[in-house]
Amino acid sequence: MANQINLETLALHAGSAPDPTTGALLTPIYQTTTYVQEAVGVDKGYTYSRAGNPTVTALELRLAALEGADFATCFSTGLAATTALFLGLLKGGDRVVVSEAVYGGTVRLLREVLAPFGVAVDFVDTSDEKAFADSLNRGPAKLVFIESPANPTLKLTDIALAAQLSHAADALLVVDNTLLTPALQRPLDLGADIVLHSTTKFIEGHNATTGGVLITRDSALNDRFDYIRKATGAIQSPFDAWLTLQGVKTLPLRMRQHSENALRVAQFLSAHPKIERVIYPGLESFPQYQLTQKQQSTGGALIAFEVAGGTQAGIDLMNSVKLCALAENLGAAETIITHPASMTHSSVPIEQRVSAGITDGLVRLSVGLENPDDLIADLEQALGSNAALAQQA
Ligand code: PLP
Repeated sequence: MANQINLETLALHAGSAPDPTTGALLTPIYQTTTYVQEAVGVDKGYTYSRAGNPTVTALELRLAALEGADFATCFSTGLAATTALFLGLLKGGDRVVVSEAVYGGTVRLLREVLAPFGVAVDFVDTSDEKAFADSLNRGPAKLVFIESPANPTLKLTDIALAAQLSHAADALLVVDNTLLTPALQRPLDLGADIVLHSTTKFIEGHNATTGGVLITRDSALNDRFDYIRKATGAIQSPFDAWLTLQGVKTLPLRMRQHSENALRVAQFLSAHPKIERVIYPGLESFPQYQLTQKQQSTGGALIAFEVAGGTQAGIDLMNSVKLCALAENLGAAETIITHPASMTHSSVPIEQRVSAGITDGLVRLSVGLENPDDLIADLEQALGSNAALAQQA
């Protein structure tokens, strides 16, 4: 079904049928921990909601279909999904190769929580084929974990090439597809083994829930993720799964509009004299623009940029916006502006931040669904009132 029906239709219908007892069109919120058994050892597929819940199952079937997969396991947050991935597939002494620019919480989990258990972690620039291949040749690796585009530098990794290199080294390839979603990029079709999302972001899309998911075409991997979720107690709540089921209905529409708005804002910023550097994968000036066109359907919703005048000028801009929300999140209907160095990536060691290009002056904009004219007007007024720049002038 996943390969025959279009994404917009799957986003509305995959995984849910009218409720057989009442005809309710929407999958109900099964707000229950307990399921009565017909006899000892005879149940209807559910026993206790830490192991599984019908509302969560409906979301899993829908998200799997959107990524062109058969299986998904939903978690309470994106990091709970990342934790289950690593706990489920790694043990002390194993090595994992990771893109050097990834979400800061992923770095913290690997460095501070898993490394003390003996997991070896190599952060490498996976956009550089030679550095990537050298890292895989240095010794056996169980997993390769990449983010493309990377948060917040938006550097791309060639996913098909990453799959080839990982498989040649007998490693599984995991892609964090949070920034683009299956509406704009489908890593399993490019050869990845597992896709991870923080559904907190574009998938739910309304700043209303936290959630995470692991998606795969391999039933043994899926069984492992389900088992680890039950064993560690990291399942998503039925209410959050239900809200996510509503949010995901408009995912393809929203991602198209997010991308259109982001391109307009990126063009505005590129032409602005007070902006020093704009990074947006949908701009022809983006250094990996060819790769954008090869593996993504648009440039996405995120823009990174630096304001002329350095770090203080960037901070002044973030303090001067009125419509854009200064916040830690990304991927929602409302536009969010973030200072990665002090917010989302503050737990990444300074050397890794510098090597990954996360400068202190970098500003990240998650472009929302407002009219782009209003966003541009907000940025224009904020740049006009920029104290550091005014002093320079
Ligand atoms: N992956 C990416 C790319 C993220 O940006 C985030 C959070 O910002 C996560 C994973 C973790 O997700 P959560 O905040 O839902 O735990």
